[in-house]
Amino acid sequence: MFRLKAGPRFEYRAKEKQRVKDSPLLAEKFRQLKSLTLDLAYYDATRATKHAQIKYVPNLNTAKAVFLVDCPNHECIGGDFELTGEIAGAIAKHRASASGELICQGWLSKTTINTVPCHNVLHYKLSFDYQSNNGQ
Ligand SMILES: [Zn+2]
Repeated sequence: MFRLKAGPRFEYRAKEKQRVKDSPLLAEKFRQLKSLTLDLAYYDATRATKHAQIKYVPNLNTAKAVFLVDCPNHECIGGDFELTGEIAGAIAKHRASASGELICQGWLSKTTINTVPCHNVLHYKLSFDYQSNNGQ
């Protein structure tokens, strides 16, 4: 029985995990990519408080092209941040970096579904290194 784990948060996460699992590896999808570095900073909805700042260098041979970053709100339902499109778009234009912010579109907690949104903010800076044209 999965009763303890069931619920809107669990179901959403399970679906998202499957979507990540079904996507190709970064190294497969973007063969010209040599490395990717993410500088991430989390803010709450007011942007007044920075919760955390992390630097993350995914292994291109194990990280997936559907790229999700967890929302820092542990009660968040249906949210999280997705950088899939940002990464693919920047690589398609062969950009050295890209930055911006994403707003969590989930609900603050399971008791506030359809009433109070999460709206945590993720600031991201992506840096890309490409294989040289002389490589293979
Ligand atoms: Zn959230």
